[in-house]
Amino acid sequence: MHTLSETRPDAVPGDGQPPSAVDDARPESRFAVPGFDAVARLAAQALHVPLVALVLSDGRAYWYTAGADDPTRPSDILATAYLEAARSHTAEVVLDTGDDARFRPAPPVPHPASAPVRFFASEPVRTLTGQQVGALCVMDHAPRSALAEHERVALRDAAALAGAGVVLRSYLGRTDPVTQLPHRSAFFEDLRTHLRDDTNHAWLVAIEVASVARFNAFVRAMGHAYADELMRVVAARVQQWMTPDMHLYQVSVTRLAIVLPQTHGEPTPARLDELVARLRHPFDCLNIPLTLRPGIGLLQVDARELRGGDPLRRVMSASHAAQRNAPGWARYEQTQDEHHRQQFFLVTELAAAITERAELDLHYQPRIDLDSGRCVALEALLRWHHPTLGEVQPGEFIGLAEQAGLMRALTEWVFDHGMAQLATWRADGLDIRLSLNVSSADFDAELVARLQVLMSRHGIDPHLLELEFTESTLMQHCDATRRHLAAICALGTTVAIDDFGIGYSNLASLRQMPASSLKIDQSLVRGIDKSHADAAIVRSVSALARDLGFRVVIEGVESESVHNVVLAMACDEVQGFHISRPLPARDVPGWLRSYAAAPLPPRHRTSS
Ligand code: C2E
Ligand code: MG
Ligand code: MG
Repeated sequence: MHTLSETRPDAVPGDGQPPSAVDDARPESRFAVPGFDAVARLAAQALHVPLVALVLSDGRAYWYTAGADDPTRPSDILATAYLEAARSHTAEVVLDTGDDARFRPAPPVPHPASAPVRFFASEPVRTLTGQQVGALCVMDHAPRSALAEHERVALRDAAALAGAGVVLRSYLGRTDPVTQLPHRSAFFEDLRTHLRDDTNHAWLVAIEVASVARFNAFVRAMGHAYADELMRVVAARVQQWMTPDMHLYQVSVTRLAIVLPQTHGEPTPARLDELVARLRHPFDCLNIPLTLRPGIGLLQVDARELRGGDPLRRVMSASHAAQRNAPGWARYEQTQDEHHRQQFFLVTELAAAITERAELDLHYQPRIDLDSGRCVALEALLRWHHPTLGEVQPGEFIGLAEQAGLMRALTEWVFDHGMAQLATWRADGLDIRLSLNVSSADFDAELVARLQVLMSRHGIDPHLLELEFTESTLMQHCDATRRHLAAICALGTTVAIDDFGIGYSNLASLRQMPASSLKIDQSLVRGIDKSHADAAIVRSVSALARDLGFRVVIEGVESESVHNVVLAMACDEVQGFHISRPLPARDVPGWLRSYAAAPLPPRHRTSS
C-alpha cells in the first residue's frame, strides 16, 4: 500500500499547494506515479526491506510499507537525508543510521508507531533524458553490515523503472517532470473547466523567469541540473506569494502561469509589485547566488477569448514586455501585442530576405568635398523591398536585426554587395570611395578579419573604404572599441563618427577614438537656414571638431538655403537630398557624369 506524503521540508516552502482544479476534485489520484506499487514491491523483495520511498526533488514522497493493509499517514516532516538523497546525483548507502543526525528529526515511517530506520540506501531517479527528478530510497529497521552487489543492481533497476513511471505520469498526469507542476495542457484543461460557464472569467498571471537566451546561457554555464533547480526555487517563491484559490502551472521551460478564479478579482498593483519584488530578490540556487529580472504579465480571460484566441500567448506577450519595464509587470495591451507580432513577422521575413530572397538592395548617396566641389565618396544605404509590405525603411529593421541577432549576417551582405559594386565601378574608371555603416552588434574582434576577407575577395584597396559608426556605438564599449578601431585604421580604412549630436557624448571623449571624420546629424542641420541658434550650434561644433583634427561632414543638407549656410562654415563635406537622394546602383554612373559636368562650385574657406 502506498500513500503520498505532502511533506513540507524547509527547502520547499509553499509546497502542498493543490496543483490544479481538477486535481482538487480527485485528491487520491493527484500524484500517482504509474507502476510505483509494483516497483516498490519488487525493490522490497529484492533488497529484503520493509520500507521503500520515492522522494521527488521538491520534497514530495511516496511510501510503500510491505505488508501494510491500509494506506498510512506519513510523517509530516521529511528527514533531511531523504531530501538530500532526492537531490544528490549519486547513490548513497548508510548501513547504520545510528550516528547520522540527518535521520533524527522524525521517523520517516508512514505510521507513528514504527521503529526508527537503521539502514538506508538511495539511488537517483532520472527521466529518460537524464534529468534527475528524485531518488528511490529503501529502508530497514535493523542496521546492516553490507549491501551486496546484486542488491545494488536491483536498487538501480528499480530506480530506472521509477524514473520511467515519473515520465509516464508527466504525460498521463499532466505534470512537468522537473518542477512537478501541472503543465501547459493541464493549464488549458483547467481553464476550460473554469470557464465552462460563459459568464465566468478568470485572471491569468504569466511569469517569464528569464529570457530564453539567458536561460540557455545558465544551462551552458552551469548544466541542466542548475537550470532545473532554478525553476523549482522560482516556483517555490511564487507559491509563497499565492493564495489558496490560485493555481500554478509550468507552461514552458522558462515560464510559469497562475490562474486566478473570478472570485479572486483582479490582483492589485501592490500585489503584483510584491510578486516582482520577491522574484527580483537574489536566489540561492545550489549555493550560487543569482539575480533574475523576470517579467510578469496580467490578462483577464473569458470563455469567448479562450475559444477564439490564445490567452497564453497574449499574457506571455505582456510578461515579455514587462521584462524590460521598470515595474516588472504589465497588463496585456492589444496595440503593444500587435506591434510585437509585426516585429516578429519583420524579423522572420528579414532572416529569409538575407539568406534566400533577392529583396535587399543598396542605394548610394554622394558625399561632396567642399574644397574641390568633387564627389569623393558614396555612402551605401540598405533598402528592403518586401513583396507585400513594400519599402521597409532601415530605421524600422536595423534595430530589430540587432535585437534578433541578424545584424552580422546583414552587415556581411552589405559589405559583400557594396564592395562588389565598388570594384565594378572602379574597373569602369570611376574614381570613388565607399562608406559603409556598421552597427554596434558588429563590433567585435572578428570585424577586422571579416573586412579583410571581403576586401581581398573583391580586390578592394582598404584606403577606398570608410566605416561609419554611430556616436552611441563608439561610446558604448570604449576600451574594446578603441582597439578594434585602431586595427581597422591600421589597415588603411578610415573611420567616421556618424549621427554626431544626437547623443550626449562630448567631443573630447570622442577624440580618443581613432576616427578621422565626424558626420553632424541631420537633426541639428535641418533648421540652420531659419534659426540663428541652430546655425550657431552647428557652426561651433564644426569648428571645434575641425580644431580637434576631424574631417567634418554635414549630413541632411536638404535645400539650397541650408547649403548656403553650410558653405560659410568650417566643414569639409556635405551630403543630403539637395545634392542627391540615395541612388540605385544603376543610376550612379550617370549621376556622377552629369555632376562632374556641372559640379557645385568649390568654395574658399571662411575659417579654419
Ligand atoms: P545614416 O547612416 O545617418 O544615413 C543617412 C540617412 O539620412 C539615410 O537614411 C539617408 O537617406 C538620409 N538622408 C540623407 N540626406 C538626407 C536629407 O537631406 N534629408 C533627410 N531628411 N534625410 C537624408 P536611411 O537610408 O533611411 O538610413 C537611416 C539609417 O539607417 C542610417 O543613417 C544608418 O544609421 C542606418 N543604415 C542604413 N543602411 C545601413 C546599413 O547598411 N548598415 C547599418 N548598420 N545601418 C544602416
Ligand atoms: Mg551613415
Ligand atoms: Mg548619419
